[in-house]
Amino acid sequence: MTNLAEQYRVTQEPFYQPQANEVALYEAAYNARLPVMVKGPTGCGKSRFIEYMAFKLGKPLITVACNEDMTASDLVGRYLLEANGTRWLDGPLATAARIGAICYLDEIVEARQDTTVVIHPLTDHRRQLPLDKKGELIQAHPDFQLVISYNPGYQSLMKDLKQSTKQRFVGFDFDYPAADLEASIIATETGVNKADAVRLVKVGAAARALKGHGLDEGISTRLLVYAATLIQAEVNPLDACRMALVRPITDDADIRATLDHAIDAIF
Ligand code: ADP
Repeated sequence: MTNLAEQYRVTQEPFYQPQANEVALYEAAYNARLPVMVKGPTGCGKSRFIEYMAFKLGKPLITVACNEDMTASDLVGRYLLEANGTRWLDGPLATAARIGAICYLDEIVEARQDTTVVIHPLTDHRRQLPLDKKGELIQAHPDFQLVISYNPGYQSLMKDLKQSTKQRFVGFDFDYPAADLEASIIATETGVNKADAVRLVKVGAAARALKGHGLDEGISTRLLVYAATLIQAEVNPLDACRMALVRPITDDADIRATLDHAIDAIF
């Protein structure tokens, strides 16, 4: 079991630029073992924050990227058929509960409804995970904590967490970092010069202003980091921006033209 915990330990300190007092607030939530929900648009630093907190708290981290095909068994575990019988294989949630990891379910809303129900008994005073098929009840390790991420922008009436699930978590609101912080994140992550980092942030701001006016979501910090990485690899900045910041986010010719013009004006 110890080996498994070692395998999931975050061994190198991830670079994380705090936006406010979220580090202290998370520590308080962890100390009370409260389940945590981090909300915000894609690529704004939610996963990096959790990785950093796992490192700081010295706890193993098990991350699960949720998708629409994911079932409760994918999280909890299943029997595998083998030549001489069957063998039980713990899923990531069961492993995290056993070894005392922070279990981060990224974009939980994407997963099927039955998956949200299996997390319920882990999120209240019981801190238990029933493995129904195996007939076992896991009592979570004292260090175990559940964290979910949630992008409010994607939610619709069809796809949203139920109040009975939401009201089991404390919440953190994340958003793209303020301009000066975002520029310093881009510069630190990639080594790009400060002037280009500031220009990239301006392109980001131009795109974010189009949210709801033709764009579903603005350019993420992640994409700005990609553009800076290309610039650092000596790609022409205009090409880097088009490739990393415009092409992935929209196929609409008018919006592409608007963003391309913004890039020409800024660089
Ligand atoms: P998501 O919100 O989708 O989980 P990530 O945490 O993966 O986003 O962030 C995407 C990228 O943006 C990271 O890989 C990192 O390069 C950068 N980033 C965003 N915010 C920060 C931050 N506060 N400190 C350091 N890097 C950040």
